[in-house]
Amino acid sequence: MTYARTTLLLFACAIFVSFVPPVSAAPPLKAGAAKVDITDLESGAINDPLHVRALVIKDETTTLAIVTLDVVAIGEIGQIGNGFLPQLRGRIETELGIPPEHVLVNASHCHGVPCDDVDERTFQAVREAAQNMVPVYVGAGTGHEDRIMENRRLKLKSGKEVDVRHRYSMPPDEEVAGAGPIDPEIGILRLDSEDGETVAVVYNFACHPIQNNPGMRNTADMTGFSSQVIEDNLSEDTIALFIQGCGGDINPAFYKDVAHPRRAEPLGNLLGLSTLKALRKIGSAPDDRFTILNETIELPRADVAQRIIELESEQQQALRSLGGTSLNLKTFLPLVVRYNLWSDFPSYYSHSYLQEEALGRDDLSQLDAENRRNIQQYIGNIHTMERLTRMNTNLILLRKHHATMLAADKRTLDVELMGVRIGDFVLLTFPGELTVQIGLNLKQVSPYDLTFVAGYTNGYIYYAPTTEQLLNVGGAQEDSDCMLAPHWQKIYEDKATEMLEKL
Ligand SMILES: [Zn+2]
Repeated sequence: MTYARTTLLLFACAIFVSFVPPVSAAPPLKAGAAKVDITDLESGAINDPLHVRALVIKDETTTLAIVTLDVVAIGEIGQIGNGFLPQLRGRIETELGIPPEHVLVNASHCHGVPCDDVDERTFQAVREAAQNMVPVYVGAGTGHEDRIMENRRLKLKSGKEVDVRHRYSMPPDEEVAGAGPIDPEIGILRLDSEDGETVAVVYNFACHPIQNNPGMRNTADMTGFSSQVIEDNLSEDTIALFIQGCGGDINPAFYKDVAHPRRAEPLGNLLGLSTLKALRKIGSAPDDRFTILNETIELPRADVAQRIIELESEQQQALRSLGGTSLNLKTFLPLVVRYNLWSDFPSYYSHSYLQEEALGRDDLSQLDAENRRNIQQYIGNIHTMERLTRMNTNLILLRKHHATMLAADKRTLDVELMGVRIGDFVLLTFPGELTVQIGLNLKQVSPYDLTFVAGYTNGYIYYAPTTEQLLNVGGAQEDSDCMLAPHWQKIYEDKATEMLEKL
């Protein structure tokens, strides 16, 4: 190798190796990480494996376990039962000596199916991580990704909001005024061993990982792929833990595309590559800042009785507005094509129209007028039908949560919040599907640059939309699949702000 080429190579290495070599004694924090496959091998075809990943971090007095699972939620919905979290924490406390309030468990919210013994395998991952601990250098920073997601709540010109779901139809394009915000920030923590290996990467991002794959085979979805990309491109044993953020109203981009097969993999690869790109600029150093907070607050439950009555009346009104037309689907479709392609002479060749005109007759024009009226009436009915699909689905959600509220022994929900600080990396958690604005608000008020917010953590209380979004109750999934009264947001944000000050 020539001198010039060697210099170039060394220069390249200097750019790409962000690890800062140790300058003094062993760093104050230790960490270990592990992952275990939790794919259900019995539930049909498999696209890609699901995993539980665990990271255990400690200083001289305190230990924290972060557990991330490729599942839809920690309890309440999906395959993870409500007993999972307390049992896991109990076992971790008994066998590993980590107190329950120092165990943070986040669901990626992918819709994959885990195996029946996911509880055993989750404990295995935590135990292995605890056994692997080595002294670590800490680094934190952010990456940027805005190509793979979109806000799924559409603001309508009427002031209402509708969300983008496979379960129902979109509103007509001309009714849409705009979409809500996204958060392109990837929050990143890196932990490097003294010999320069990356032990773990924790990365936080807000998006529903529900893009799936063409056969709807079992999958960890986009965030399974992003974690794999990160692990494949760092050290031999690096574990990349994805922590779902405030993805409540964030969908994969082009979620309703019917022209292309669904593919989570390219979206996940983009997220993984953007995280790797950011990691190259994040150094690591000895750091002793390590704080864990765990508090439970009470949030008010919603009472949607009145809203259900209003929506049922709206539903009846929509039903009554369906008017008869001469057309059915078979006659409507060819007419719509003809009247749009050949609007001057839709019913026959032009010469017949011209002959009628010369003879002073208008039979064809009269026929066209009648067909056009019928087409408009039929399209109106279709839009009403589409609106009914949304109303019916959201009413079912409202009735479900109303029944739960009536059966509950109190009008508040106990909600566990965690606050974690590792070096410059600050993370707040919440058990519901926080919508993205709440994460953006907390990042804005936080005294720390590197503040990130995770929903879907330590339990599951359905969607947690903003007070403003809850003005739209019954119109979209987030405001219908929700147990919280509108004023919950201020109570939570005030508490979260208070916790930030203690970190
Ligand atoms: Zn969701």
